[in-house]
Amino acid sequence: MSDCIFCKIASGDIPAKKAFEDDDMVVFHDINPVAPVHLLAIPKRHIASLADARPEDALVMGKLLQTGARLAVEHGCTDGFRTLVNTGRVGRQEVYHLHIHFVGGPDVLPPMLKR
Ligand code: AMP
Ligand code: ZN
Repeated sequence: MSDCIFCKIASGDIPAKKAFEDDDMVVFHDINPVAPVHLLAIPKRHIASLADARPEDALVMGKLLQTGARLAVEHGCTDGFRTLVNTGRVGRQEVYHLHIHFVGGPDVLPPMLKR
């Protein structure tokens, strides 16, 4: 996807503070963090959203979770963190390239949603 900002981060065409990269995926720091640690894990292949993932994407999606969790701990989230995927209009997804947020830091996070 030529106009996708996360494809451009994956290819290196635009800079990001990368924490991990291999053939399938990248983990980088969110440019507008909501907590001391805010990492995004993305597949290199363009998948528009979680709702667009196909059975053949399951392996890389597992890698995103496992590697992102390892990096969250390595970046200081030793006592836990929050993992979030916003999907589509209702989920208030802003960037339409599948990404998993890993959010944490020393303090307990606020409740996920207000009741
Ligand atoms: P979402 O609402 O789940 O689509 O979140 C998109 C996230 O991407 C937001 O937290 C943004 O701060 C983040 N973001 C957007 N552009 C960049 C960028 N160039 N580098 C790093 N993070 C970005
Ligand atoms: Zn993309």
